Amino acid sequence: MEKDVKSILSENGFGFKKRLGQNFITDKNLLSSIVQQSGVTADDTVVEIGCGAGTLTRAIAQHARRVIGFEVDTTLKPVLAQTLAGLDNAQIIFKDFLKVNLAQLEGEIGSYSVVANLPYYVTTPLITKLLEEGKLCKSLTVMVQEEVALRLCASENTPDYGAITAIIALRADAEIIKRVPRRMFTPQPNVDSAVVKLTVRDGRLPVKNAQLYKKTVHAAFAARRKTLVNNLVNSFGISRAQAEEALIKCGIDIKARGETLSPEAFARLSATLADCTALGRGD
Ligand code: SAM
Repeated sequence: MEKDVKSILSENGFGFKKRLGQNFITDKNLLSSIVQQSGVTADDTVVEIGCGAGTLTRAIAQHARRVIGFEVDTTLKPVLAQTLAGLDNAQIIFKDFLKVNLAQLEGEIGSYSVVANLPYYVTTPLITKLLEEGKLCKSLTVMVQEEVALRLCASENTPDYGAITAIIALRADAEIIKRVPRRMFTPQPNVDSAVVKLTVRDGRLPVKNAQLYKKTVHAAFAARRKTLVNNLVNSFGISRAQAEEALIKCGIDIKARGETLSPEAFARLSATLADCTALGRGD
């Protein structure tokens, strides 16, 4: 398979584009273990973002009922026509996934899981789009840079914990399911990777107002060196006294920094701030 795909790419005069995050996987064992660990079954529809030469697409198609792949690089059309020949449950849409109308796609395909070796330059926007706009997405099994994987799965009070961790916690459980060394990719990137599985559980973290939860999280991490109080004052336009009162009501130390708060603590704080900001500027 490896030799075949590489020769198909070169026969078609394909040149790897770094700016599109094109680092392909051809190792069959790795591909099939990613699909197996995703938990996808023969009943499932899978969305893949960034099909590349179609190696993962093919592995998914062998396990799933149907795979809908998105690829932004149209120079891969002739390559994919060859590598996916004979698979009648794989469909490729040549489009930037960030521009896809997810509600419309979901109307057409129903519930689905995502399995993808993500283009690294847009990892966070892609995951955010799926978790914020996707109503029928059951899980995301995605290859990302190892340092991003650590961030997605971090616990509070650790250096890797950040806004994206707390935002993910709203809707999904996150776990690293596989580490993947850089030598497994063609061309080889400068960093190692990991496969993360995000399992969507709606209502995982009950919040009064999801937008306010996210605003609170982003405020808390706006300036990591500042205390939470300072960040809240700057982002919400409330007084120091109001910020301190909100923290005290939630049982949070007024000298705390954002990274010490669990997602549950952010949920409590955002509910308290809802009252506070109604008194203040009404954001
Ligand atoms: N799935 C293939 C594999 O595992 O070998 C390729 C993975 S490669 C890391 C990422 C792929 O995503 C590239 O083929 C790239 O052209 C494509 N891509 C980059 N940005 C994209 C976007 N916004 N929407 C869809 N595909 C994109």
